[in-house]
Amino acid sequence: MALSGLEIYKLLPRTNCKECGYPTCLAFAMKLAAKQAELVACPYVSEESKTRLAAAAAPPIRLITLSADGRKLEVGNETVLFRHEKTFYHPVGLLVRVPDTLSATEITTLAKAVANYKVDYVGMALTLDGLAVDAVSGDGDKFAAAVSAVRGACNLPLVLLTEDPAIMAAGLAKSAGVTPLLCGATAANWEAMAKLAKSAKAPLVVRAETPAGLAELTGKLTGAGIEDLVLDPAQRTFNASLVAVTQLRRLALKKNFRPVGYPIITFPYLGEADPAMEGLLAAQQIAKYAGMVVLGRFDPATVYPLLVLRANIYTDPQKPIQVEPGIYPINKPGADAPVMVTTNFSITYFAVANELESSGKPGWLLVADAEGMSVLTAWAAGKFDAETIAKTVKNTGVAEKVSHKKVIIPGHVAVLMGELEEELPGWEIKVGPREAVDLPKYLTATW
Ligand code: SF4
Repeated sequence: MALSGLEIYKLLPRTNCKECGYPTCLAFAMKLAAKQAELVACPYVSEESKTRLAAAAAPPIRLITLSADGRKLEVGNETVLFRHEKTFYHPVGLLVRVPDTLSATEITTLAKAVANYKVDYVGMALTLDGLAVDAVSGDGDKFAAAVSAVRGACNLPLVLLTEDPAIMAAGLAKSAGVTPLLCGATAANWEAMAKLAKSAKAPLVVRAETPAGLAELTGKLTGAGIEDLVLDPAQRTFNASLVAVTQLRRLALKKNFRPVGYPIITFPYLGEADPAMEGLLAAQQIAKYAGMVVLGRFDPATVYPLLVLRANIYTDPQKPIQVEPGIYPINKPGADAPVMVTTNFSITYFAVANELESSGKPGWLLVADAEGMSVLTAWAAGKFDAETIAKTVKNTGVAEKVSHKKVIIPGHVAVLMGELEEELPGWEIKVGPREAVDLPKYLTATW
């Protein structure tokens, strides 16, 4: 439970020596409570107080890290329920299940396909995060061989799926160089799983059907020295999953109930056999409140929208995604190609660039620094005015690349035409269409 300023004050030396930079210990305590100061600024805090303060300052949802050959997946450590309260920092890990009943060749092909899958979305590279090897066979040797095949094919972080400690040990033996997530511990096997997690220094999934059951198990495991835990509420359907994860998230964040202060893993394929419905359930769990989602199969048609959904939820709304301001040649433009100007909001840039690219028409696209805002928003905020556009035309040196002096501005800012003529003497200002989709038609008609 987070401590109040007064509670922190009681743990400080209370000598008001000012060495921390604050006039009194109470002022320093208030800053600590507001997370605006660091405890190290006071050189006189006792070890006992340090321990108590560190425990109180621990995040309400623990950070869990899976790693493989330098590649990491970090989940958890969120401090708020909703994105509008504060940015989310650790995107949901998206993993794909690999049944150990597949042949070695099939496993290698699947692992490589998942590892190599990458889509470009408004300038961001979206990728999957890991593989979950599932001991469907119930055979330790087959499970170990599947883990080996996955390790040989890629360096993605791993989850090992089995409740049988002997099979888990066989898989772990083939996991050198990896910190996998062991999935998982139940009321029946937790002691054996705890031993494996401890010896491998690996995080462990705790599975129970109620928050009370999960809290009881995490209590036993932390008592046994296992701190890195992930929760599986074992509720598979749309409604039950939503209720369970919401309860756990609220208990952790609103009530600061430490026994469930861990990220959550979900398995949408266990709730929905139909691939389309599985994708929808995964989307629900990405939005609320999974830390990791294991997909039952690799299908780019499902994976792509899930990655875009995740990117949208985990993009800082206060920092719009932007492209670098500058000059972008599209379709190998020559000296007679048109010059167009837009803003550096990624979605705006890619809307214009994609329309031009797919039309096959060459052009010079000038991107003005409008602090990542779209055309109309930037114009209304005074970030995309005649002066900014003129500066962009001059700074990009486009005049040396073309044999004309014409620049096309977006139709939404036609009002800037007069001012721009003054800012850019000798240039002809042309007003383009309002929507990017109309740009090819406009160029055909006017250029
Ligand atoms: S340095 Fe420590 S003891 Fe001194 S005023 Fe700051 S909090 Fe108090």
